[in-house]
Amino acid sequence: MAWQVRESNGIRYCRSKVLAAFPWLQQGFSTRCSAPGAREEAGAEEEYRRRFLAIFQLAPDQTQLAKQVHGDTVLIIDQLQPGKELPEADAMITNRPGVGLATIHADCVPVVLVDPVHRVIAAVHAGWKGTLAGIVRKTVVRMGEEYGSVPAECYAAIGPAIGSCCYRVPPERIALFAEKWPEFDFAAFQEESTLDLALINQQFLENCGFRPEQIDNARVCTACHHTDFYSFRRERATGRMLSLIVMK
Ligand SMILES: [Zn+2]
Repeated sequence: MAWQVRESNGIRYCRSKVLAAFPWLQQGFSTRCSAPGAREEAGAEEEYRRRFLAIFQLAPDQTQLAKQVHGDTVLIIDQLQPGKELPEADAMITNRPGVGLATIHADCVPVVLVDPVHRVIAAVHAGWKGTLAGIVRKTVVRMGEEYGSVPAECYAAIGPAIGSCCYRVPPERIALFAEKWPEFDFAAFQEESTLDLALINQQFLENCGFRPEQIDNARVCTACHHTDFYSFRRERATGRMLSLIVMK
């Protein structure tokens, strides 16, 4: 299990090797469009996103971008609504081919879910608040309710996000996790005063029935690799990477 770096359309991006095995699926996570500290021309990021989406034969209006608020609302996207403002949400699910689901990130965990049996995909934005609220589990439950998805048959890819190496947090924050999720062990995090949100989401997925070999966690820290990725923690970066998933 691993993520791989690809280059296309003049853009470097990474993708899950596990999900790349599905020929009817495309998935990718973009890199930053300018070097740290470099001045970005107006519109540069928009153009970069347009070129990134073009790698997947998608125009911006074929891609649904949630209005992220660090909440735990999950939206079902049963048709594209270009130009229409979506309700606030940090996760989206669709079973429609050609509908791109995108979330934006600078340290927060990007999770994409795939049910190859019912052909359903989901994109999730999980920062510490969303992770604490269990947004990934809520998305899995919703996939089951709406489409009959069974976790043991599903796949997940967890993209680059801030690692515990660079994510020191106040003890009270870890206490919130320990209180809300007593079935998980946060002792190691409590000792170090750090959190590994990608790992916590991985454990949540395993706990709700995902097989470990069907979860592809990139384990790449966006702050350590800040020449490739924007990191809000490290540089208060204003740019964002796109996490994209679409069925052909
Ligand atoms: Zn790091």
